[in-house]
Amino acid sequence: MYINENFIKLPQSYLFSTVASKLKEYRESNPSADLIRMDIGDVTLPIAPCVIEAMHKAIDDMSSSETFHGYGPEQGYPFLREAIAKVDYQERGIEISADDIFISDGAKSDLGNLGNIYSKKSVIGVADPGYPVYIDSSVMDGRGGELLSDGRWSRILYMECKPENGFKPAVPSRGVDVIFLCSPCNPTGTVFTRDELKEWVEYAQRNRSLIIFDSAYEAFVTDPDIPRSIYEIEGAKEVAIEIRSFSKTAGFTGLRCGYTVVPSELKGTDREGNEFQLRQLWNRRQSTKFNGASYVVQRGAEALYTSEGQEAIKKNIGIYLSNARYIRKAMEKAGFEVFGGENSPYVWVKWPGETDSWKLFERILSEAEVSSTPGIGFGECGAGFIRLTGFNSPENTRKAMERISRIKFNEEEGLGEDFKSLNDIKAIRALDDLDVLDDLTHALGI
Ligand code: PLP
Repeated sequence: MYINENFIKLPQSYLFSTVASKLKEYRESNPSADLIRMDIGDVTLPIAPCVIEAMHKAIDDMSSSETFHGYGPEQGYPFLREAIAKVDYQERGIEISADDIFISDGAKSDLGNLGNIYSKKSVIGVADPGYPVYIDSSVMDGRGGELLSDGRWSRILYMECKPENGFKPAVPSRGVDVIFLCSPCNPTGTVFTRDELKEWVEYAQRNRSLIIFDSAYEAFVTDPDIPRSIYEIEGAKEVAIEIRSFSKTAGFTGLRCGYTVVPSELKGTDREGNEFQLRQLWNRRQSTKFNGASYVVQRGAEALYTSEGQEAIKKNIGIYLSNARYIRKAMEKAGFEVFGGENSPYVWVKWPGETDSWKLFERILSEAEVSSTPGIGFGECGAGFIRLTGFNSPENTRKAMERISRIKFNEEEGLGEDFKSLNDIKAIRALDDLDVLDDLTHALGI
C-alpha cells in the first residue's frame, strides 16, 4: 500500500495546535500566570434557549417510534433548507431555492470536500494571509505542486494582501480555476465592498473560474453597504459557491452545522466543453460520502430562524463585535496600525519594528500574559502581524488591551520612534470614554 504522499509534503504542524502547545508549555512553567486568551477562534457564549429547547424536543422525538428519525436526507431536512432559503436569502431579495442548499456538519468539511468536484489539475488562488484550510486541503488533493524554499507551493497562486491594498486580495492578472475568497476575512477582519465583490464576479465570468466564497462570518456584518452574500452581486450564481456556518453565527462550534449553497445556474465543463451543473455533482458527492447532519442539531438550527432565534444571534454577535471594536480602538490609540475589528470578530495588528510573528507572540505572552495568533501562521504576508479576537469576555478584553499597551519598549531594541506612543498610558486610559457597546447596541437595534 502506498500512501498519499501529499500528506508528507505538508509541513508538520498546524498553526492552532502549535499555539495551543506553546500556551500549554507556558502554563506549565508559569503555573500562577493570569493568562488572557486573545487568540480564541471559538465562540464562548452559550447556545440560545430556543435552540436548546428545540434540541430537547428533537431528542424526545427519538424516544418513540412515531416520531423517531433515522438516516435523514443527505442534503439536509427540508424544514431547515426551506428556512435558510427564505430567511437568509429570499427575504433579503436574493433568489436562492431550498434545492440549492446543502446542510453540512460545518464549513470546514465542505471547504475540503468541494475539491472532489473540480479537476485535480485546477489551479487554486488563495489570499495570503488566509484561512490555512484552503491551502492544506488543496495540497492533500494534489493541487499544491512542490513546497518551495519560501514556504509557498509551486502550483498555488498567492494573492498578496498587504497594508497597501488594505489587506484585500486584488483580482489576479491571469486566470485561475478556483478562487477562495473570505469575507469577513479570517484572519484580517477585512470585508469586501459591493464594488470589490463585483470585480471578482466579473473576473470569474471572464476567466470561467469558480469562486468559493467563505462567508462563515457573515452574521458579523452590520453595515448595510457591505454584502453578506456573494449572491447580492448580479451574475454571482453562475460563478460562485457560498459556504456558511452556524458555528460563529450561533455558537454551533461544538454542535456542528453549516450549509453550502450551489445554485442550479452554476456550471462547469469537461475536457470536451460539455456543460454540467455543479449542483448535480455536489449532490452525487454528498449522497455517496455523507449521511447528513444530525436530526437533533438540524432542529436546533431551525430554531435560529424564529424571531427569538434571530434576536439571540444579534445579541451574542453584538457582544463579540463590541469586543472587537474595543480592541481596534485600543490598539489604534496605542499607536498600532490596525485592520478589521468592524463587521468582524478579528483584529489584525501590525507590530512596528518586529517582523518575526512568533517572537512577537512569545513577547506578548511573557510580558503581558496575553495570547495572540502569530500572523505568519496565515501566510508569508502575515509576518509582523498578530491576530486578536473578540471572543473573550468584555472584562478580559479590556484587561488584555491595557496590558498589551503597557509593554515597555526602548530604543536599544531598535524599535524606533513609533514605539513612544505605545508607552503612553494616558491614551489607553481614555478608552473608558469609548462608548463602543452603546454604538453597537444602537446599530443592531437590540
Ligand atoms: N471558514 C473560516 C474562515 C473559519 O474561520 C472557520 C472556523 O474558524 C471555518 C470556515 C470553519 O467553520 P466550521 O466550524 O463551520 O467548520
